[in-house]
Amino acid sequence: MPRGREKITPLMHRVLQTLSASRVHLTAEEILECLEGVGRATVYRALDRLCEQGLINRLSLESGTSVYEYVREPHMHFVCRECGNLYDIPAEFASSLEQIMTKCGHSIVKTDVTAYGVCKNCRMAE
Ligand SMILES: [Zn+2]
Ligand SMILES: [Zn+2]
Repeated sequence: MPRGREKITPLMHRVLQTLSASRVHLTAEEILECLEGVGRATVYRALDRLCEQGLINRLSLESGTSVYEYVREPHMHFVCRECGNLYDIPAEFASSLEQIMTKCGHSIVKTDVTAYGVCKNCRMAE
């Protein structure tokens, strides 16, 4: 959740709009392309601050790339090792995970689950 004292700059607002409008996972380079005329360092700084404020998520994939997404309902990710597609998967386990953690006395701020494998499309193509 955003911490009220942090201010959102106009650029941060544009980054948020870009991510929420496209409903996908974008790399920093793709976000840069959407924000024509804005310097690379400025965009990276805005991404860092939005991550710190919990408004967007940064996912580091095993391929070494990082993608950003607008924070919505909890979900997990599935990455296809054949085509590289990233899928959003409903995280039905999220509430039971939270119960388990509460029982242990912990409180979850962020859950990050990414599974890797071969997607349906690639399996059908085989
Ligand atoms: Zn695939
Ligand atoms: Zn996602």
